[in-house]
Amino acid sequence: MNLCDINTLKPLLKRHGFTFSKGLGQNFLCEESVPVAIAEGAGVDKDTCVIEVGPGVGALTKELLVRADRVTAIELDKRLPALLKETVGDFDNFDLVEGDILKVNLKEICAAFESKRVVACANLPYYITTPAISTLIESGCFESITVMVQREVARRICAKPGTSDYGAFTPYIDYHATASVVCEVDRECFIPAPNVDSTVVRLDIRKTPPVDVDEKALFKLIKAAFAQRRKTLVNCLSFAYKDKISKSELEEILVSMDLSKNVRGEELSLIKYAELLTKLP
Ligand code: SAM
Repeated sequence: MNLCDINTLKPLLKRHGFTFSKGLGQNFLCEESVPVAIAEGAGVDKDTCVIEVGPGVGALTKELLVRADRVTAIELDKRLPALLKETVGDFDNFDLVEGDILKVNLKEICAAFESKRVVACANLPYYITTPAISTLIESGCFESITVMVQREVARRICAKPGTSDYGAFTPYIDYHATASVVCEVDRECFIPAPNVDSTVVRLDIRKTPPVDVDEKALFKLIKAAFAQRRKTLVNCLSFAYKDKISKSELEEILVSMDLSKNVRGEELSLIKYAELLTKLP
């Protein structure tokens, strides 16, 4: 069964009385080459176990199942297990967990995997793109995470300091992973077609972070630096750290780091944020 063929997909959905839920970010793949590109871009092979977020009717799941040791998919929509039974139920290396990716216990689910290499793959529901990526990263379960995201989010993930795409999520990702683009995917590759194009990104999780500072304090600093995007870094930080440091002391620190007093949050790399943290009282 070709699950990306519209002539297969439409009658299948109709038979099950399935209608797309916008609220659950349901845009299913209908271009065969895309799930293949995700599975291959993630390097899935017989030594790999995969967690898939949101299998839908199984277009990506099937490409993962033919390549992987095991695939466990996590799906929130209670209408989909019946469809998945029909589409991928014959694979003996498939498990389905009915639940919310933001709430399930990934450590417990992954503990059942026997292969050494565990990765995550998904065509992510857009309404939870960044929390889903953070949840996958912070579970500590994965060697890599290969996900389809809105092109705008992919640009943010891969942005260089000093560009308009650079945001608080960029140094967050850089702390945890190295990011690369697998492929670009146009909106016509989905049914229904969303309003934006997408990009598949692969995050290779770092064994150790590139900077050695207190993680919580670092992300508190980065959050404060991006809290008011139009303001300079000094203005953002003098507000967030008003009990600790004055505006002129902050300016002195920036100058000592070869940065302008008027520098903005998006101009600092992760390494510069870590350096700044060590200079704060
Ligand atoms: N993988 C399928 C594909 O590529 O055709 C479907 C992808 S669709 C963009 C997103 C899927 O995630 C849907 O099946 C949706 O029901 C599911 N989903 C939405 N929110 C979820 C959540 N919080 N946890 C797990 N799955 C979720």
